[in-house]
Amino acid sequence: MNLEIIRCAICNIPLSVPVRERQNREGLCHEMGCDYIEPGVYVVADECFATHADGHLVINLKDAINTKHHWDRRRLSGCCGIGGMDGPNTLCLNDHEIGAEYSDCWMPHGLAFDPNCAVLETLNENSEQEIKS
Ligand SMILES: [Zn+2]
Repeated sequence: MNLEIIRCAICNIPLSVPVRERQNREGLCHEMGCDYIEPGVYVVADECFATHADGHLVINLKDAINTKHHWDRRRLSGCCGIGGMDGPNTLCLNDHEIGAEYSDCWMPHGLAFDPNCAVLETLNENSEQEIKS
């Protein structure tokens, strides 16, 4: 599997370190307060992850780069962390809404990118072809 990075669909800034698609759902954590997914991979969320996140690309919060919390504090409500229940709460550095952080104590934690706002880009495709030929 090729490495991929997630970019902002509007300004193209990278939003994740290089990640690979997770090959299955075994070992994804559905417990409260744990990381939903380990660093280095992403998964397309199903209804088990969080409300409003169906079909979103979920990564470990540690793999996010060039992101910041929403300027609207109402989007950041939660108990110990951020509940992600109030709409997109995460922006790229250029203020485009790209998805939602889920980091409250009563849910598995992760960062979910809205597929309409963030795009996957495959890395190293050209360089690998050069090596083979
Ligand atoms: Zn952007």
